[in-house]
Amino acid sequence: MKLFSIRGGVHPSSHKSLSSEQPIRAIAMPELLHVPMRQNIGAPAEPVVAEGESVLKGQLIGESAGPVSAPVHAPTSGTVTAIGDYIAPHPSGLAGLTITIAPDGREAWAELPPPLDPETATGQEIADRVREAGIVGMGGAAFPSSVKLGLGTSRQLHSLILNGAECEPYLSADDRLMRERSEGIVGGAAIMMKALGIPRAIVAIEDNKPEAIAAMRAAASGHGAIEIAAVPSRYPMGSEKQLIQVVTGVEVPAGKLPAHAGVLVHNVATAHAVHDAVRFGRPLISRVVTVSGGAMAEPGNLEVLIGTPVADMISACGGLKGTPEQLLLGGPMMGVPLHDKAAPAIKGNNGVLALSRSEVNPGAHMPCIRCADCVAACPCGLQPLEMMIRIRNEKLSEAADVGLYDCILCGACSWVCPSHIPLVQYFNYARGALRDQDIVKQHQDKLKGYTQRREERLERIARAKEEARKARKAKMAAAKAAKAKAAAEEEATDA
Ligand code: SF4
Ligand code: SF4
Repeated sequence: MKLFSIRGGVHPSSHKSLSSEQPIRAIAMPELLHVPMRQNIGAPAEPVVAEGESVLKGQLIGESAGPVSAPVHAPTSGTVTAIGDYIAPHPSGLAGLTITIAPDGREAWAELPPPLDPETATGQEIADRVREAGIVGMGGAAFPSSVKLGLGTSRQLHSLILNGAECEPYLSADDRLMRERSEGIVGGAAIMMKALGIPRAIVAIEDNKPEAIAAMRAAASGHGAIEIAAVPSRYPMGSEKQLIQVVTGVEVPAGKLPAHAGVLVHNVATAHAVHDAVRFGRPLISRVVTVSGGAMAEPGNLEVLIGTPVADMISACGGLKGTPEQLLLGGPMMGVPLHDKAAPAIKGNNGVLALSRSEVNPGAHMPCIRCADCVAACPCGLQPLEMMIRIRNEKLSEAADVGLYDCILCGACSWVCPSHIPLVQYFNYARGALRDQDIVKQHQDKLKGYTQRREERLERIARAKEEARKARKAKMAAAKAAKAKAAAEEEATDA
């Protein structure tokens, strides 16, 4: 199929061969599973079980708390031993509300909803099933998938793109999923097309994954409307907007969503989860995670239950080789530092990396030499050095004026910078600071609103009191006049 060119991008060493030939395998059941209620963008789930309660595999344990939220299910059968704060898989290292389950080893399933026939089910029924199954974007975004599937009724969509690019170095979880479970992914694509009323789907896979491309082509051969596109291997090809542009030629404008261009993008693992939920009634309770890096003894691709501690995944890969320089959740370009190996797997986490010193240390930071390599690398057409200069000078809103919010935080500019300037860290910092300023401003506006409304209310009360006083006075005057008139009439009668 015809592909279109995109700007920028870089070619970091892939390191994928460390894990890409390792088939997906299950690991031993952890002693405890720590299932966070915050698994998605939007509101976290709210627990619906109590400490001491027995739960079955697939049973609802946290229900969604709003339109942008996703329920959470027990990954196995066992007993709820704690509900409270537990270390979260987040760079802040802060704790979050978590349900801890001690597995009973029986793997006893709860009663699941009956399979849906995608041929006869309505789009709404499919979206409802996806919502009930707690499916979120598994490529890392963790946006509740049912919200995107519900867009079919409100937007004119012409293409579904399944993202199988997996452009981050080291990661091979999606590669293995496409090689080993291609039928389920294609089935999921067909179900999503039905739900969205979309006539065409394209599975985009980087051309450095020939086995995955072959497996997906074989699985899609009976589906005329599902095409497999081998896209160039270039980071960040897996970014939503870049993928749309290379496949359709449509550039999604800054600040707009793919749906505005008539396109929706879902990850291949998400499509597989949709297939399982619709065909078998299974909720999302496990995922494939790449565990890799130069400091990992035996890198591999693991099927882990949600809530599995990172420490268990590392043990299943033979442990660490020495002390890693950096532990990451996700890939080296956009992943987040992991401070505690007790943190659990969540639905949106596709990788655990233990990187050695030689894989991390980029050298000392040097002054900018104005080489413009960062500009050439930026896939969004931004001028990273201009944003960086403004941020260094604490002119954050000026950085926003020159594109800070159009930045997808891909890190290509940092990777290419010969002066080792951590540009993307500046952008992350500035966005966080602006968000905080915005929160403070919203709070101040709210207070201003309260004060204004209070003054208006007091004014209304004072006016009402004054009017009541005047009315009372007029009434009294009228009563007095009437009395005087009556007295005068009486006097006249007597005379
Ligand atoms: S790549 Fe680095 S050194 Fe070159 S212009 Fe950009 S910030 Fe400056
Ligand atoms: S991090 Fe932002 S500025 Fe840097 S290359 Fe990516 S999109 Fe461009």
